[in-house]
Amino acid sequence: MTLLTGWGRTAPTPATLERPRSAAEAAELLTRAGRRGVVARGLGRSYGDAAQNAGGLVLDCTALGRTGPEPAWRLGSDGLVTASAGAGLHDLMTDLVPKGWFVPVTPGTRYVTVGGAVAADVHGKNHHVDSSFGAHVRSLRLLTADGTLRELTPDDELFWATVGGMGLTGVIVEATFRCVPVETSRMVVDVERTRDLDQTLEVMAETDHRYRYTVAWIDLLAGGRRMGRSVLTRGDHATTADLPARMRGDRLAFGPRPRLAAPPWVPGGLLNRATVRAFNAAWYGKAAPAAGKRLVQGIAPFFHPLDGVAGWNRMYGSRGFVQYQFAVPFGAEDTLRRVVARLSGAGVVSFLTVLKRFGQGTPAMLSFPMPGWTLALDIPAAQPGLAGLLTELDEWVAAAGGRIYLAKDSRMSAEMMAATYPRLDEWREIRWRADPGGLFVSDLARRLRLL
Ligand SMILES: Cc1cc2nc3c(=O)[nH]c(=O)nc-3n(C[C@H](O)[C@H](O)[C@H](O)COP(=O)(O)OP(=O)(O)OC[C@H]3O[C@@H](n4cnc5c(N)ncnc54)[C@H](O)[C@@H]3O)c2cc1C
Repeated sequence: MTLLTGWGRTAPTPATLERPRSAAEAAELLTRAGRRGVVARGLGRSYGDAAQNAGGLVLDCTALGRTGPEPAWRLGSDGLVTASAGAGLHDLMTDLVPKGWFVPVTPGTRYVTVGGAVAADVHGKNHHVDSSFGAHVRSLRLLTADGTLRELTPDDELFWATVGGMGLTGVIVEATFRCVPVETSRMVVDVERTRDLDQTLEVMAETDHRYRYTVAWIDLLAGGRRMGRSVLTRGDHATTADLPARMRGDRLAFGPRPRLAAPPWVPGGLLNRATVRAFNAAWYGKAAPAAGKRLVQGIAPFFHPLDGVAGWNRMYGSRGFVQYQFAVPFGAEDTLRRVVARLSGAGVVSFLTVLKRFGQGTPAMLSFPMPGWTLALDIPAAQPGLAGLLTELDEWVAAAGGRIYLAKDSRMSAEMMAATYPRLDEWREIRWRADPGGLFVSDLARRLRLL
């Protein structure tokens, strides 16, 4: 038995962990799953209990497709990539960016697998333009409960139950998806500061469409008139002409490494009100000289700044942290304002609060994004009164027609889930046809009574 947690390091549970290298090995392992069932796991970057299965079997899929020295993916014509579900986006980018291709969607970390990206239907800073990962997938190979390997396309209902289905329809073994061509490995970036939340919302609503990638970082510790002040970072892939002459020689270079490592053991955590307030003020201040200039930045600092610090999740101390990410539809800006005011008023210490705009979602029944706004914040689990506060916010989110992201969740109730994912029953029926014996199950599925 191995003790597993999500990235937030809360609620560890023991499971038998196996690491199949092929679909055949995975199929054989399914026959050995006991009463507590089985779930696939990627790089464990979901924050809560999605890739855990207390007392059961967990299949670590990161070795899938690694039977020989060759890479676990193939680049076809027009940027069509067929990758093992265990391939990490970091490794894919390291290979594909120098060849002039970029993944269609990347979350805020590169250390996720293709299987995890499909299972959570992940979104990036380009959702308002490109939707989520599932929109770019042409086919999937799914190992189902009866041990068969099914080829699925977007015409199959099981395809859309698997995209965003959090590993509960089977083990994704392979995915084929279209990448986007890039001329360089750099981004051209505009940085802008806003004075408060209203201005943040206004600027994003009016000008986000000019950029492929956009995000607002909110200083949640700023109160009063400055509540919701933000740094907007918006950009596009740089063309060769955008680069200064000295960068043109290695225009597709890509090889980021973590520059720092978090200390291995910080019992009380490094992130407290004083350190976060200092960081926020410095970050907001630092954006001033950049404002109004077109910066040229690498892919890694633009998309994945946190990947620069290895093991940064340990900085929250031994009790770990919670990520609260919700979406509300356009028109529910008052709810967004109320939530930010409540969090700011409660003195919630969030080192990273990020606001994005979502565009059209995918047909996936449990996919999280909806046209509207999404706010995500990391909060130390030890923050007093946190459980009650977040339950109060859940009610506002639900009343506004919004929902919570399953890949980040570790604490919402089954009632909240049922009230906010209107296609849950439809998903359950399709899942049940694929897995009538209930072989695939996770801690998340039990907590939220998904099955
Ligand atoms: C710093 C950070 C930033 C992030 N930013 C974003 C963001 O911007 N947007 C976003 O959408 N998400 C974001 N995430 C969340 C992350 O993208 C998702 O949780 C993703 O699913 C993690 O992939 P993983 O390989 O680590 O999967 P795990 O966390 O190991 O598993 C996640 C889910 O996928 C399932 N799964 C994994 N592999 C398979 C497989 N082969 N077959 C079937 N099911 C499988 C698991 O059962 C589980 O339900 C972020 C996470 C971190 C830590």
